[in-house]
Amino acid sequence: MTIFKKIINKEIPAQIIYEDDLCLCFNDIKPQAPVHLLLIPKKEIPTLDDLSEEDSKLMGHLVYRASVIAKEQGISDVGYRLVVNVKEYGGQEVHHLHFHILGGRNFSWPPG
Ligand code: 5GP
Repeated sequence: MTIFKKIINKEIPAQIIYEDDLCLCFNDIKPQAPVHLLLIPKKEIPTLDDLSEEDSKLMGHLVYRASVIAKEQGISDVGYRLVVNVKEYGGQEVHHLHFHILGGRNFSWPPG
């Protein structure tokens, strides 16, 4: 079981920002920006590459919810970053699909 599944099950604590039937959003334990949230589906999907077509609506819900949360967090006016790390070269450590919502500072491009 991944650490995120334990957070979904409330077996380990997290600072929860938003929750509904389909998803959960909480503060990253090691923030890389003034605002660093993780938005995850409650459905256990290891990586972006494990999506099936039936997950399209769920992913639309997550992306829309990310934009709402960014507005609520006050980071959307100047802009923010929505990131999905995918597998080893993408830098994915937790194999439960998640969006990083990062804001409150300027981000460089290209990424390191
Ligand atoms: P990844 O590298 O897989 O894209 O990102 C995983 C993220 O999960 C990292 O930013 C890391 O700080 C965060 N993280 C790992 N373990 C925990 C935890 O137990 N609680 C919380 N809130 N975040 C975690």
